[in-house]
Amino acid sequence: MRMIDHFLAGGTAGLTPGRTHRVWNPSTGEVQAQVGLGDASLLDRAVAAARAVQPGWAQTNPQRRARVMFRFKELIEKNMADLAHLLASEHGKVIDDAKGDIQRGLEVIEYCCGIPQVLKGEFTLGAGPGIDVYSMRQPLGIGAGITPFNFPAMIPMWMFGMATAVGNAFILKPSERDPSVPVRLAELFVEAGAPEGLLQVVHGDKEMVDAILDHPDIAGVSFVGSSDIAHYVYKRGVAAGKRVQAMGGAKNHGIVMPDADLDQVVNDLTGAAFGSAGERCMALPVVVPVGADTADALREKLVPAINALRVGVSTDPEAHYGPVVTPEHKARVEGWIDTAEREGAEIVIDGRGFTLQGHENGFYVGPTLIDRVTTDMESYREEIFGPVLQIVRARDFEEALRLPSEHQYGNGVAIFTRNGHAAREFASRVNVGMVGINVPIPVPVAYHSFGGWKRSAFGDTNQYGTEGVKFWTKVKTVTQRWPDGGGDGSNAFIIPTMG
Ligand code: NAD
Repeated sequence: MRMIDHFLAGGTAGLTPGRTHRVWNPSTGEVQAQVGLGDASLLDRAVAAARAVQPGWAQTNPQRRARVMFRFKELIEKNMADLAHLLASEHGKVIDDAKGDIQRGLEVIEYCCGIPQVLKGEFTLGAGPGIDVYSMRQPLGIGAGITPFNFPAMIPMWMFGMATAVGNAFILKPSERDPSVPVRLAELFVEAGAPEGLLQVVHGDKEMVDAILDHPDIAGVSFVGSSDIAHYVYKRGVAAGKRVQAMGGAKNHGIVMPDADLDQVVNDLTGAAFGSAGERCMALPVVVPVGADTADALREKLVPAINALRVGVSTDPEAHYGPVVTPEHKARVEGWIDTAEREGAEIVIDGRGFTLQGHENGFYVGPTLIDRVTTDMESYREEIFGPVLQIVRARDFEEALRLPSEHQYGNGVAIFTRNGHAAREFASRVNVGMVGINVPIPVPVAYHSFGGWKRSAFGDTNQYGTEGVKFWTKVKTVTQRWPDGGGDGSNAFIIPTMG
């Protein structure tokens, strides 16, 4: 059985017997590897290695740090196919989605290539008589990231790219469900010229997360995962005096106005609701048609489009999506469909009990469409995180606006319309962090920043972009005055030369 080791100080940690966690191949339903679960003593080793290199890295000029990012970008591009296959084999998403996962992370690395420009700081000449003021951003020291299973390349890169570009060392605790790609990224980072110990990977579960949150030498923690754990991480990390940002779950709505182009909407929805088996925090699992006519027309077009979706192994180039990540998750998603049925919703297309011929043990869930969903249903209030699309019918624009605004999650939302005024009104009033206008998955590009509202994010700084720079640095402000050198003023204007 393949063993997946931690990556400490530029090499493997040398696994000692201890707790392990199985890593599935979701497409076949086989266990393909075991990953070691680390503890506080392993974390101490990582922190010691990080402490040894971080001050030197912080003093390395930003253009040299950027050069490492440039080389890292090239190495990822060179290794894209292998990385995508490795990622798909542990996660289950199809190869194109796996490449997208890597590509969106890479865009943050590209942003980091410009870090000297971003870190220039601020300066005021003559803030008072002979007084200048300047502000600089300095790294926190050692940062840590705790990441979910669903984007094992992109989310680690959001975090370690930004954290290291601005001068921190970084310890990554990836999901124990698909831990191989994060290790491979750390190896490539060293190959790109990063000092050994700058980026390390420690595997683990709650025990390791708690060790990170309590460690006195870790100054900042970025978390992405489900909301209850995000909230826990936020509270415990802040109580320990750390800076914490913790992104949580989602239930993104797509509002369909009566004037929307329904063919385009159906096309967008099949990708946004079912792509990556719905295991995206920016998936669109709730569609809100406005008016009964819109709802009926949309449903009529959605049914054949959903029935035409092809579910397959992650390497099937024709497949729209692959299996979900684990057998427990398959059972959970199917359990939510049971709940919706019990609650009185109409199961229009039922993905329960789906098996893929030749891969009967894989963790597949067929595409599912549920209509007549109402806001009092638990299956509406909670995140399903599977290939399930729910229809919640709204009478008018105001009701449609209220649904995402009043939902406990506030990650993303989209409106489909040809009416600029309605779109503008919606974008300004909706109580959600990221808004798409005729864009189903409005993940901001790398030079903006990513973050939801309400229970989708705890803490007040977003991921990547200038928000990421803010999170991973602290501001120092210098107020300076240089009196002229001569006590009697005789050499007031003699300025030293460089010789
Ligand atoms: P998860 O919360 O189960 O795990 C996330 C991380 O927390 C993992 O590294 C895991 O090892 C760790 N963890 C698990 N249980 C823990 C515990 N009891 N105490 C401390 N740490 C623990 O999430 P997941 O299933 O890996 O990922 C899916 C979730 O992540 C979904 O809710 C999804 O919406 C969310 N997500 C959010 C965003 C966002 O940016 N808002 C992005 C991607 C995924």
